[in-house]
Amino acid sequence: MADCLFCKIVDREIPGEIVFEDEQVLAFKDINPLAPVHVLIIPKQHISDLNEITANDESLLGHLLAVSKELAEKLGIAQSGYRVVTNIGKDGGQIIKHLHFHLLGGKELGSKLG
Ligand code: AMP
Ligand code: ZN
Repeated sequence: MADCLFCKIVDREIPGEIVFEDEQVLAFKDINPLAPVHVLIIPKQHISDLNEITANDESLLGHLLAVSKELAEKLGIAQSGYRVVTNIGKDGGQIIKHLHFHLLGGKELGSKLG
């Protein structure tokens, strides 16, 4: 998508601190980290948010979560614990309209979700 920030990171039009890449997925550090580890895991294909997911995307979704788990291990937070979150729409607090999972850890996260 032409004016999508995360598509531009995928296409290397703007820089990202990339920590993982394969054919389907890119992961990079959040520019404004809310925890010592804060990585965003995204599909390379533009999907706006979870609302846009169809049955065809189920393996991609599984892969995004599997990559999140692999990165938690690689970044040393698998044992201490972490959180994987995706925001959807206005009430969900979504700012960037390209599906992404936040991987957060490296400190005790607040228990408040809403
Ligand atoms: P959300 O509110 O779920 O849409 O989160 C968007 C996230 O993208 C925020 O945590 C931002 O800090 C992060 N972000 C915005 N621009 C960039 C960028 N250029 N590189 C990395 N992360 C970004
Ligand atoms: Zn996009």
